[in-house]
Amino acid sequence: MESRLRIGIGYDVHPLTQGRRLVLGGVDIPCDRGLGGWSDADVLTHAIIDALLGAAALGDIGSHFPPGEAQYKDISSLVLLKRASDELKEKGWRARNIDATVVAEQPSMEEFTGQMRHNLSQTLGIETGQVSVKASTSARLGFVGRGEGIATWAVALIESISSQVAVGNE
Ligand SMILES: [Zn+2]
Repeated sequence: MESRLRIGIGYDVHPLTQGRRLVLGGVDIPCDRGLGGWSDADVLTHAIIDALLGAAALGDIGSHFPPGEAQYKDISSLVLLKRASDELKEKGWRARNIDATVVAEQPSMEEFTGQMRHNLSQTLGIETGQVSVKASTSARLGFVGRGEGIATWAVALIESISSQVAVGNE
């Protein structure tokens, strides 16, 4: 019997740099530095997109939304998440739940995780309770610990929404 559930993992890193916004899960977080990147560099949303695409074996974010293309310059990553979600739906999948850990030495972001979960779940058309966002530090170790960047891990469980899902389609 074909599985109706599949799991995917996503990982992303962006550098912290002057003169950029810090956007995580579509939330603008007050900070003296922001994340560098071609889009809005929303490292949390990027990791979730990769987890969802990976669960469906649909490649990765770079192949779907190549950096360097004018249409993606400074784009809200929530728009990219919606497009990835739509592509999953076309293939017969929808997100069942997501769990993500943002690793940053600073700023503190616990007070914003509720709004991040709201934005992400609304974009995916699922309940807030199906999206978990946790904030952690790197105990001052490594590039995250030195404040050079922010990393995020995410896992996504997806379920089939049709009876004729081509599981493992290439
Ligand atoms: Zn990214």
